Formats: sequence, C-alpha cells, structure tokens
Amino acid sequence: MHTITLIPGDGIGLEITKAVTDIFSAAQVPVQWEKQNAGQTTFDQSGELIPQALLDSLEKNRVALKGPITTPVGKGFRSINVSLRQKYDLYQNVRPSKSNAGIVTRYEDIDIVLFRENTEGLYSGLETWDERLGIADSTNRITVAGSRKICRAAFAYAAKHNRKKVTLAHKANIIKMAGTLMLNACKEAAAEFPQIQFEDKIIDNMCMQLVNKPEQFDVIVTTNLFGDILSDLCAGLVGGLGVVAGANIGDDMAIFEAVHGSAPDIAGQGKANPTALLRSALMMLHHLGEHGHADRLEAALDATLLQKEKCTGDLGGKASTSEFAQAVIDNLK
Ligand code: NAD
Repeated sequence: MHTITLIPGDGIGLEITKAVTDIFSAAQVPVQWEKQNAGQTTFDQSGELIPQALLDSLEKNRVALKGPITTPVGKGFRSINVSLRQKYDLYQNVRPSKSNAGIVTRYEDIDIVLFRENTEGLYSGLETWDERLGIADSTNRITVAGSRKICRAAFAYAAKHNRKKVTLAHKANIIKMAGTLMLNACKEAAAEFPQIQFEDKIIDNMCMQLVNKPEQFDVIVTTNLFGDILSDLCAGLVGGLGVVAGANIGDDMAIFEAVHGSAPDIAGQGKANPTALLRSALMMLHHLGEHGHADRLEAALDATLLQKEKCTGDLGGKASTSEFAQAVIDNLK
C-alpha cells in the first residue's frame, strides 16, 4: 500500500480529485490518500498558504497528486506551484502529449514528451520595480547545474523509453548568455547518449514547426517559460488542457498534477473533465512501479473516451464529471 499526499487545490480541483479517488477505489489500486491543501481557501481557514502539515506529509510520502491552485495575477501571494517546485528542487516538468483515438483533433500521429526546466529562468522570482524610473526587471537566471540536470533527464528518458530524438528549443541567438548555456548543456548530454539524435531549434521557428508538422517531434527539452508555453501548445494539438498529464519530478520527490488551472468559469458545475488528473495519476502509478494497475486504468479511460456520450462537454459529450468517472469504472476489466 502506497501512502500519497493528495492536494485537491481550488476551483474544479475538488471535483476532479474526487473523480480520480473514486476510480482508484473502484479499481482497488493499492494507494491510500493523505489529504492536505494549500492556497487561498486554506489561508482563509487557517492563516497559512502552505500549511506545515502539507510540507510534513510531502516530506514523509515523497509522492503527491495535486489539483490546480489559483494564483492571483499581478499582485498577492507567489504561486504555490512554483514555491513547491523550488523548495523541493522538482527540476523536471514532464508533459506527455499523445494523440488518442477517442479525441478528434486536426492531427493524428502525435507522441511528444516535453521536458520543461521547472525551477529557474524567468520563474526565479528575482524581480525589481523602480517606480521613479518606471522600470521593471525580471531576472532570467539560468545555471550550469540546472541546465545540465534537465538536459540529462530528457536524454535519459529518451534512452529508457526507446525514443529516437531530443529537440532543444531555445533563443540563444538573442538571449546569448543564458541561451548558450542551455545549448552547451544539451550538447554535453547528447554526447553521453550517442544513440539518440539531437537537434536544436530557435523557439519561434519551433512554434511554427509544432503547429505545421508536429509528428516530427519526439522528446523536447526547454527552459521554464518556453516550456510553459510550448507544453500548452502541445496539449492543444491532442485535445486541450483537459486531457494531458503532467509531473514535477526531482531526485527524491515527485508531484503529479493536471496541467490546467482551477477553471473558475466552470467550477462547482460538474462540467470539469477529470482526464488530465487521471492521466497524471497514471504517470504516478508508473513512478510507483504499479504498471499493471496503470495499464488497466488507461484501457478503461481509452474505452470511455471512445464513448462520446459518456464524455464531458469539452470533448463534445454531455456527461458530468461524476458520470464520466462512473463510465471509466464501468469500463474496468
Ligand atoms: P484554466 O486552465 O483554469 O482554464 C482555461 C480554460 O480551460 C477555461 O475555459 C476552463 O474552463 C478550461 N478547462 C481547464 N481545465 C479543464 C478541465 N479539466 N475540463 C474542462 N475544461 C477545462 O486556466 P486559467 O483560466 O488561465 O487559470 C485559472 C487559474 O488557475 C489561475 O489562477 C491560474 O494561476 C491557475 N493555474 C494553476 C495551475 C496549477 O495549479 N498547476 C496551472 C495553470 C493555471
């Protein structure tokens, strides 16, 4: 039995975590949940944005499943997501985007895994504002150590999963120092894995090629901000934010989370699609070595996605979040 920290989050987080935990119970997956929350709701109740009890639970269990947490725009508290990623050095943000027979999109053969550096760059939180001069500075801090770790992780993943190619997306032609640093780190990693093809592309060209000919890409590695944007672009290629998984992985802790936000526009209405969080939970099961349970649940999810009327509105169906979860349970073999 694995004990996992469960962070429901805000907005649709409550609905989608309930759907996933119901599916896990019905499938008798050997997981028990330790529920802890963070964010505005928690602050309103307890006066703490990230309660110590949550940190204790994470440090004990080392694995968590997390719903989306609302982050105020422009003011207010710093992103809880970014804080946890930096505190525990969860330097890999791993985002697979794969075509699915049940989800009709403009493209058919996409199978991309994106590695986004998760702790540095423009997310470092190094910002200053000079009111007198009217100048805001946001520091794009990239380190040799951080770049080496994320580039090596992307190549190691490619080698382990029989992938053919790693593409680095960068802007070293303009952001010469930080960009070149990442490019050099990637060349070093590529030399360690000669069986994997390596290429680099400038980020603007990369965006064009991703919408034009996405099937040419296999594993992508990039910086924090470029990765944030590219990973949503890749999600859009295979059906949108409601269907793709995400994981924040460090050397000794991992937090699996749906890549979408708290969707305040549909929260509490039973409209949220739990697929993204369920897929993240399946990544978590593989991480725990529970491959059989992950495969069984994935087959049930894929079967449900083929039954359009059992899907949620974002996929063209009419089902509620809980009806979708029940359909996955009914499809368990
Ligand atoms: P969002 O992902 O919450 O919503 C974008 C659009 O996608 C909305 O129309 C929403 O209804 C839809 N959508 C998202 N998830 C869906 C699902 N599972 N099923 C069906 N439709 C879904 O993005 P946003 O509106 O830019 O952000 C809202 C809040 O979420 C912000 O406070 C943001 O900071 C936060 N956020 C958190 C995380 C995280 O916790 N990892 C990630 C992204 C955004």
